[in-house]
Amino acid sequence: TLPDGIYAKPASLTPAEQIFKQAVENRWPERHVVSWRYIAPDADRMPRPLREAKATGELTIRYDAVVRRITTDEKTGRATGAEYIDRNTGAVSTARAATVVLSASPIESVRLLLNSVSAKHPDGLGNSSGALGRYFMDQLPCLAFGSFSKAKGWAPDDSAPTDPFYNPSGGIFIPRFEEGDAARGDFDYQGSVGRAPIFGDRDARLAFFGFGRMLPYADNRITLDVRRRDAWNIPVPHIRCVMQEEEQALLRKQEETLIAIIKQVGGDLEFIGSPTGLKEMGKGAFPEADAFSRFMFRKWFRKTMCMGAAIHETGGARMGENRQASVLNPYNQVWDSPNLIVTDASAFPGSGIAGTTLTVMALTIRACRNLVDQYRTGRL
Ligand SMILES: Cc1cc2nc3c(=O)[nH]c(=O)nc-3n(C[C@H](O)[C@H](O)[C@H](O)COP(=O)(O)OP(=O)(O)OC[C@H]3O[C@@H](n4cnc5c(N)ncnc54)[C@H](O)[C@@H]3O)c2cc1C
Repeated sequence: TLPDGIYAKPASLTPAEQIFKQAVENRWPERHVVSWRYIAPDADRMPRPLREAKATGELTIRYDAVVRRITTDEKTGRATGAEYIDRNTGAVSTARAATVVLSASPIESVRLLLNSVSAKHPDGLGNSSGALGRYFMDQLPCLAFGSFSKAKGWAPDDSAPTDPFYNPSGGIFIPRFEEGDAARGDFDYQGSVGRAPIFGDRDARLAFFGFGRMLPYADNRITLDVRRRDAWNIPVPHIRCVMQEEEQALLRKQEETLIAIIKQVGGDLEFIGSPTGLKEMGKGAFPEADAFSRFMFRKWFRKTMCMGAAIHETGGARMGENRQASVLNPYNQVWDSPNLIVTDASAFPGSGIAGTTLTVMALTIRACRNLVDQYRTGRL
């Protein structure tokens, strides 16, 4: 989703988005409005890397296998495999391995590491620094809906072939611009103008999502809940992720900037909201909806647009160059057990402002190549 990405094919903007783009870029030349992304449907729903791995004949996939811990050698502390529960029968089995790749998504990978205690790893696997579970983050979300009177109606996006399961995935993206700390990144916006179906020649609808950067704090942390267990008797994670003054201020600025952009190019916002609350403008949110629906929207907005709504969670097993302050080395290897790599976004030392997936995929490939290279050359 970044503007310097190389897309598989060109992604087009709707006519309304082209007008919006022109208006924003004329007013603020340093603020770019670009296409969000190009995603074409894959007729085979199995992702390509899995297909290719399967084609080698070397891949075994264990279905219905709920991993509960990573096993380790009592003497060396190195990973020896994974212990898992059959979802249907409850039977416990172990898969043994020379090297282990853990990539269960941030909260779950941290939970599994914390649940993998042993004599060598008394506070959780990879927790000799005390950093496991700490520095957990999610990005700062805001959501805005409204209309854009300079464009009428709506248009479908025909950049990519139609997907039988999902709506077209395009839209517009406004990357981080000048203001703020460019090195860390402050916030960006993704959204759509004139994509939502409406009747007749009415003002085009617009919708935007903002994503802001959260800083890593040691006490924003995932721990194991000692009182509650899931269906497989594994302790559930307890998550503490609280915004500090830095985040409150950034979120305010993120919302004010989006309000100003939309207003100054001739748009009308109905509402903008974030974990700091819901602000309605003009005739308010969904003015044509019935009173009960509007009541329910207001009631539930706070509960759903809360911390965590950005769904771009990161941290908890952060990588770093100093083993006293991080869980993973710069190649995602657990410092305390280097034949185990953790390659999901729990490895991120910062939250960033973009979707996490491409970085997770790139890190995973890089970490796996390094692991295989070390294993083959006897350095592991
Ligand atoms: C609604 C939504 C929209 C999003 N949109 C975007 C977007 O536009 N762009 C973007 O970059 N990111 C987006 N994200 C974030 C993106 O989905 C994640 O970054 C990405 O899926 C992370 O990949 P992952 O492989 O680390 O984790 P996952 O995709 O969650 O994969 C983890 C896998 O591990 C399995 N697993 C977990 N625990 C266990 C266990 N104990 N035993 C066995 N298996 C286990 C799970 O079943 C799952 O298959 C979105 C997220 C959501 C929820």
